[in-house]
Amino acid sequence: MEKDLFEELRGEIEKITLVDTHEHLILEEERLGLSLDLFYLFPHYASSDLISSGMPHSLLAEIRSGELTLEEKWQKFQPYWLRIKNTAYAKVLKIIAQDLFEVEDINEKTYRTLSERISSSNKIGWHSKILRDKANIGCCIVTFLGQGKIYAPPSRIEDKLNSLDQKLNMRIPPLGLEMLKPVGVFDGLIGIWNLGQIRRLEREYDINIHTLDDLLKVLNSSFERRIKEGIVGVKTVLAYNRIIRYERTAKYQAEQVFNCIFDHLGEGISWKEARPLQDFLMHQVIQRAIEAKLPIQIHTGLQEGSGNIITNSNPTHLINLFIQYPQAQFDIFHASYPYTGELTTLAKNFPNVYADLCWMHIISPYAARRILSEWIETLPSNKIFGFGGDYLIVEGAYAHARIARDNIARVLAEKVEEGYFSLPEGLDFARKILRDNPAEVFNLSSS
Ligand SMILES: [Zn+2]
Repeated sequence: MEKDLFEELRGEIEKITLVDTHEHLILEEERLGLSLDLFYLFPHYASSDLISSGMPHSLLAEIRSGELTLEEKWQKFQPYWLRIKNTAYAKVLKIIAQDLFEVEDINEKTYRTLSERISSSNKIGWHSKILRDKANIGCCIVTFLGQGKIYAPPSRIEDKLNSLDQKLNMRIPPLGLEMLKPVGVFDGLIGIWNLGQIRRLEREYDINIHTLDDLLKVLNSSFERRIKEGIVGVKTVLAYNRIIRYERTAKYQAEQVFNCIFDHLGEGISWKEARPLQDFLMHQVIQRAIEAKLPIQIHTGLQEGSGNIITNSNPTHLINLFIQYPQAQFDIFHASYPYTGELTTLAKNFPNVYADLCWMHIISPYAARRILSEWIETLPSNKIFGFGGDYLIVEGAYAHARIARDNIARVLAEKVEEGYFSLPEGLDFARKILRDNPAEVFNLSSS
């Protein structure tokens, strides 16, 4: 590859202010309440590689507990760190150390300095500095943790998040709605399976729930509330818990399941028994999203963490929804990795399916380049979203954005070199996938 061509593209791509399709960012006020060290960088992803490499869950919990000294943590952590240093998740942390804290590597000699610098970064304005100034991100579409909590962040962060719970889904963060655009998660309602949940909803929405129709009233109120709070889309992460095939289900079948919940005090019905009700409710959510003109973000492919069932999250399970709802806009996450070929063909076939590279550039930069190269040749340019950081910590969003810009510049340089694109065509494509396409689909006029 010609170095000059890459450098020219990379320079131009750096200037593009990103519309980031997906983050989970903790708020700056939450970060300010924590005492930070190196292990703040391990709320997810790299921590999952530690587990995959053989670290016992109990040891990870111990490192996160706050009961050990920094030196004790490092001694326990180091053997596993040496095992995972090759992965892209670990490379992200190295970029963070180098670019944001001026520490060359994460090792025996540097962990104290890095910890001190992370700790002293904990000041008002850090989030804006990293997201706006360093990462050149114009806005992030954010799923705040709470309702759909899927990661296992360090216990101190976890406690904070638990205490906020659903309020986090609704609160306007200090960076303001100009920067952080929330999506609404209704998985808690779709995944209803016990009486305790119904009692909580009754209190939250001040309504008696006796029938499925009452539950649908709650769903309506929940949508209305979140629309008032400024959501720009709907998000579902049920692929962490079940197969994402949602059968078209008659209301009476859903009602029979709903009624069963009242026969089970305590533990509730099983997820298997609950499935017709869940399927029915997912269709209800999609219908409401269409009415409100809200795109629907769907988790597909790799599940963060360990020990999940990958076949549950194959995007081909969604085909019946794509056929039934041509008016909907489906933003399909994570390039459906490893089902990337499946997503390519779905996005090529269905006008209502968009292919999203969020998270993908750090699962494997190489795979992300291969996929993008294929998408350039297969998909209309308006169907591709090029970047979503998918991090709890702003530093991760920054490093991920850097890798994404590198990746996109490399792929486009190849395409220009082969004569597939002219240079202006390549740059036009980059602006579309990094900014214009998500801005248009999510109606983000201010970005
Ligand atoms: Zn995510």
